[in-house]
Amino acid sequence: MDLKELYRDVILDHNRQPRNFGALAPADTSADGHNPLCGDRLTVYVNLDGERIREVRFDGQGCAISVASASLMTEAVTGKGRGEIARLFDAVHATLTGEEADAGAAMPLGKLAALSGVREFPARVKCASLCWHTLNAALAHERTAVTTE
Ligand code: ZN
Repeated sequence: MDLKELYRDVILDHNRQPRNFGALAPADTSADGHNPLCGDRLTVYVNLDGERIREVRFDGQGCAISVASASLMTEAVTGKGRGEIARLFDAVHATLTGEEADAGAAMPLGKLAALSGVREFPARVKCASLCWHTLNAALAHERTAVTTE
């Protein structure tokens, strides 16, 4: 099995059996994401432990890439802090677009490397990045809520 087949299998597996799928109630914060180009709609729910993500789940409907990417993301960011998540998103974005990541910011991608095949389909980059933008929006809400309390 070559790397491309392995990556395809990871995407198919996470689309068929998404990890951490379903609402989290109560959640410390959540956000809705919509990719009108494809019709993907996701909600990302987060419970925090200080600055770290203790638990993250998602639900919604979307294409195989959007669902698999969200599933992979939930596994990758659990237990991580905001700084690590930002660096991981930079690395994922670089993988999706085929650009080089900032040398200093490089994070090991682990299973998220399976998304590298998306770079051959530039129209699908937004499908794969939707969950990350939605997570960032959820984390931004939380910070706002904390300062206004
Ligand atoms: Zn899509």
